[in-house]
Amino acid sequence: VPLGATAVATTNNVNAAAAAGAVPRRRLEGKVAIVTGGARGIGEAIVRAFVRHGARVVVADIDDAAGEALAAALGLGGACCSYVHCDVSQEADVERAVGCCVARYGRLDVLCNNAGVLGRQDPPAANGTKSGGGGIASLDAAEFDRVLRVNTLGAALGMKHAARAMLQRRGGGGGSIVSVASVAGVLGGMGPHAYTASKHALVGLTKNAACELGEHGIRVNCVSPFGVATPMLVNAWRHRSHDDDEEADGVAPSPPSDEEVEKTEEMVRGLATLKGATLRAADIAEAALFLASDESRYISGHNLVVDGGVTTSRNVIG
Ligand code: NAD
Repeated sequence: VPLGATAVATTNNVNAAAAAGAVPRRRLEGKVAIVTGGARGIGEAIVRAFVRHGARVVVADIDDAAGEALAAALGLGGACCSYVHCDVSQEADVERAVGCCVARYGRLDVLCNNAGVLGRQDPPAANGTKSGGGGIASLDAAEFDRVLRVNTLGAALGMKHAARAMLQRRGGGGGSIVSVASVAGVLGGMGPHAYTASKHALVGLTKNAACELGEHGIRVNCVSPFGVATPMLVNAWRHRSHDDDEEADGVAPSPPSDEEVEKTEEMVRGLATLKGATLRAADIAEAALFLASDESRYISGHNLVVDGGVTTSRNVIG
């Protein structure tokens, strides 16, 4: 039985039932996806949504324990979901992840460049301006380089090797590349300098790649979330000082407590102009799902901001 055959048979039934109006349609039926940084946080929500909608998914991450556990929980013995170790800042890892995906599932239709790091908070500015906005005069070049290597070069390498696999496919190109940028790729003052630069660069890279790959039917878009109470964001608020940061020290931050999640969500609700809703990782996954699916077949080069209106108002972080 070919890998995934059981899942495909099951999902065909689901889609037949969906056509009859009985159950929701599966929007990535038959597609194969890679989600980088898929082991936790927003990436995990994207993996879960893609699998739920019929895709076979390769989780590519550096957190092997979390990635293996997620793939085992969703995978039907690797038929629907599997894990590969991949540091996106290392080209050999990215190339291997794409190769593993094609070897296992026969193709690549969707790449989600989600892996990212926030980096250390900038040191306080000499004039005492607020954290996250200052410190350019004391910029740490090595940290700047580390953040751009993961957030920008990592996404570019993903695009490179995904594009190759998509272009080599029998029957021509086609495919969707969705990167997770940030509101810090739209506005200044939303994060450390390196993070802001890396996400602005990612939005620009998305537009350039869309111009080029559109000729081959490959769409390239990004999603820009505001604050989601993931380990990344909560860890940053735990460690507002420059020197004490688990992620920047190469340690996976401990999961947020219920109290930390509630505080984060409350802060985000306070800043959003849209009231009555709470931004969750699942909301970002829905946006990525839309851009990955054929429902967005005429959308390319777009940055889909998911922020409850924050970037359209003057009510940003003060
Ligand atoms: P997170 O820290 O909770 O999860 C990040 C995941 O990426 C982890 O599984 C981690 O192991 C993995 N990762 C880190 N470095 C990697 C590397 N070099 N190679 C492969 N995997 C790596 O973060 P998150 O909040 O879920 O963030 C996911 C994406 O969303 C990031 O690109 C982030 O910049 C973006 N984002 C997050 C928020 C937010 O509020 N949480 C807002 C805007 C944008």
